[in-house]
Amino acid sequence: MTTQTDGLMDFLDAELAQLKSEGRFVRPRVLAGHQAPVSIIDGKKVVNLTSNNYLDLTGHPKLKAAAKAAIDTHGVGTAAVRPIIGTQDLHVELERKLAQFKGAEAALVFQSGFTVNVACCQSLMSDPKDLLISDELNHASIIDGARLAKAARKVYPHKDMKALEAILRDSAGTRRRMIVTDGVFSMDGDLAPLPEIVHLAEKHGAFVMVDDAHASGVMGENGRGTPNHFKVADRVQVSIGTLSKAVGAVGGYVAGQRRLIDYLTSVARPFTFSSSHPPSVIATCSAAIDVMLEEPERIARLWANAARFKEGLRGLGFDTGASQTPITPVLVRDSRKAQEFSARLFEEGVFALAICFPIVARGQDRLRTIVSSGHSERDLDFALGKFGKVGRELGLI
Ligand SMILES: *Cc1c(COP(=O)(O)O)cnc(C)c1O
Repeated sequence: MTTQTDGLMDFLDAELAQLKSEGRFVRPRVLAGHQAPVSIIDGKKVVNLTSNNYLDLTGHPKLKAAAKAAIDTHGVGTAAVRPIIGTQDLHVELERKLAQFKGAEAALVFQSGFTVNVACCQSLMSDPKDLLISDELNHASIIDGARLAKAARKVYPHKDMKALEAILRDSAGTRRRMIVTDGVFSMDGDLAPLPEIVHLAEKHGAFVMVDDAHASGVMGENGRGTPNHFKVADRVQVSIGTLSKAVGAVGGYVAGQRRLIDYLTSVARPFTFSSSHPPSVIATCSAAIDVMLEEPERIARLWANAARFKEGLRGLGFDTGASQTPITPVLVRDSRKAQEFSARLFEEGVFALAICFPIVARGQDRLRTIVSSGHSERDLDFALGKFGKVGRELGLI
């Protein structure tokens, strides 16, 4: 039976057709079992070069034990937002550990890296008299945070310090200014020039927010992040990390001065209006911080693997762009070819996702690879062999 309202959602057919014609239709591949360096994906055993499981912590026995123990002592959920009664002793303990890890006075945990970025941009840049200044390649969560902020926004070309200084000079007299940058840029794996950014910020009276999602657990001493790596941690006022990548669970946090954390605790909307993490997740994250301190060899292996893989790709003749971290793009510069490359590699037992326009600029289409500390040399050499084989087959090298 048809009714008058049956056609109301027909617009979705046209939208979906449009997405398909642009190669933007998404159907996620499905992982069976845990996020391992060699995983079963869509029923096929593949070398997994696509997860952010940098330190191979998602299946670590200590993290799993911590999650199970927390379920026994604290139950499975909090059934409340943090300011009501969704803050358990476990949350407080994790925040204490994170603050110490970051060398900050205090830290505050949010549901994800995405929400903590949105919360900080929105809460700290809350008036049209303020100015949020952002690198053009910052993560989507910063772009959305900037949209929700009431402040004016200015975007500078990627890592262009002359352009950043011009914006700072032109906006002298603005009530508050915050420069926001990713620490590690998620598509190219390059680093923000933090020493220059903090210098310009200080010179012009702005403060700095660094989103270290891809640097947490990867860069700096024991994975403390890019401000630690560049020795400018005490000059970054708003230090963001994620618990969803190297840490192996899910969540985000901000570390900084006690008054910053007190302020966000009172006003940040995702903190106030969305429920808190279940205790198992919080206990997992706490155990992960311990493991990062106790097993620094994981970070050493991650970097050794990244170097081996990057050198292998370059040796084959691939362009790995400006990468300075374990995120290694393999530039193809054509979206259809990138997708074909990814699909053929998958058939050969290697999973490397194609990332195409509009996620990256036109002509910047690539496969993005991320090795983990858990890959063996054999896994990496197998993958390199397949990159060579398929790359030659498609005329890319
Ligand atoms: C992944 C990522 C985020 C989002 O973190 P989640 O914890 O997954 O929400 C934020 N910023 C950057 C730069 C990222 O790469």
